[in-house]
Amino acid sequence: MHYNLYQSIVSSLVYPLYMRLYHCFLITIDFPCNLLYYKLYFIRVCISEHRSMSETVFRQTWKQLLPFIVTARPMTDLCWTCQKNNVLIYRSANLTDANKSDRLILQERHLDTVKQERSEYNKMVCSAKDVCRQLGIGDLSANTPCSRQIEMHYSFDYAQQVHLPSDPLQPGPIYFLVPRKVGLFGVCCEGLPKQVNFLIDEAHLISKGSNAVISFLHYFFENFGLGETNVNLHCDNCPGQNKNRFVLWYCAWRVAVGLHKTISLNFLITGHTKFAPDGCFGLLKQAFRRHAVSSLEEFQSVVNGSACSNSAQLVGTEDGTSFVPVGDWQSHLSPYYRPLPGIKGYQHFRFESAQPGKVFVRETLVSAETTFDMATNDRTLPTTAPAAVPAPGMSAQRQWYLYDSIRQFVSNEQKDVLCPLPSVPRVARAAEATTSSQGKGKGKGKGKGKGKGKGKGKSSGGPPAKRAR
Ligand SMILES: [Zn+2]
Repeated sequence: MHYNLYQSIVSSLVYPLYMRLYHCFLITIDFPCNLLYYKLYFIRVCISEHRSMSETVFRQTWKQLLPFIVTARPMTDLCWTCQKNNVLIYRSANLTDANKSDRLILQERHLDTVKQERSEYNKMVCSAKDVCRQLGIGDLSANTPCSRQIEMHYSFDYAQQVHLPSDPLQPGPIYFLVPRKVGLFGVCCEGLPKQVNFLIDEAHLISKGSNAVISFLHYFFENFGLGETNVNLHCDNCPGQNKNRFVLWYCAWRVAVGLHKTISLNFLITGHTKFAPDGCFGLLKQAFRRHAVSSLEEFQSVVNGSACSNSAQLVGTEDGTSFVPVGDWQSHLSPYYRPLPGIKGYQHFRFESAQPGKVFVRETLVSAETTFDMATNDRTLPTTAPAAVPAPGMSAQRQWYLYDSIRQFVSNEQKDVLCPLPSVPRVARAAEATTSSQGKGKGKGKGKGKGKGKGKGKSSGGPPAKRAR
């Protein structure tokens, strides 16, 4: 009886999904769908007047009867190359053996590269852990550059932004609004392991490009770096933030002015970029979802308490006070360096203080290394960071939007902190609406399966989709 019920659920829900994703070998279902199946099952049992089973037994039976339908794991990476190759393999049923073999080899090569890169990352992490253990280093602290003759490894990445105020019992109306946005940038020292999470209030968001990445990295090295001579860095392949000429110039500048002896900058393969910062962000977001958070200070204590590996660093407060200077590194370094042609094709970059200005590049770990001289004729390198750009603050429209629409959801103690009465004159209502609708699309993942379908599929003129929390 139950198998028939399962079959009917599958045919009504899974089969269309399967048809849509027919190129995948594995049918994946998000967690809320699983619950949905149970509810559907329960309704059908009620209708048919049979005894129903509990949710746990339902899940166990599901595993027995339909083991090929599994819940998508949250850490599942989506690699476009893997998907394309899998389609080719799946559609090779009527091809010759030679063609089938070619397609398999294509995917095998890709997975080999991924495996090599992953093992290199793991190797660097293991060696960093050994170094910390041997030296008895237990925490991040400010250290003089090159004060320890060691090799250390750090990873850095952005996380999806969060919104304040946040409440585990989210009141209905806030669902359609755009509360105060807070960006997250993490630098992880896997050797300890500890991660510093930069909390970037929207009033302090100068750029999300390389200037911000370099400024946060520079601040991390100055205030939390272990004082290592040789450093290995890992990050994802995002060209706007990490894989660009400015980050390379910054690394070249660091070794040239003696802040490091050697730097290796390594990029994980696109679609296979899950690494330590994502784990720390996951713990942080779990804690964030459990607490009512109404200000940056409260968010900071939630992050600090989320895991022993996590610590928070405020980039600035709601009133405009800055703690982490963000400078214009692009124009600061552009007179002294030239761009590396074909930067996207390379995965590994190396810099040495013995050869300042030069970058050693490799396409993959096993490729031959080539050199490029990025230095221009101007050899008078600056020895300090650029001057900090003042925090831009928020537009009048945004300030009034927060005051009018968001303030009511903030706890009484934090109302004047998060959404204070603006000191600027009120702007027209039409302009306000435009600004708030512009802010909607940024950094939202449509709830990653937590939205229970609400807010999805709405037209662009309608209310915003659910915020990822
Ligand atoms: Zn792949």
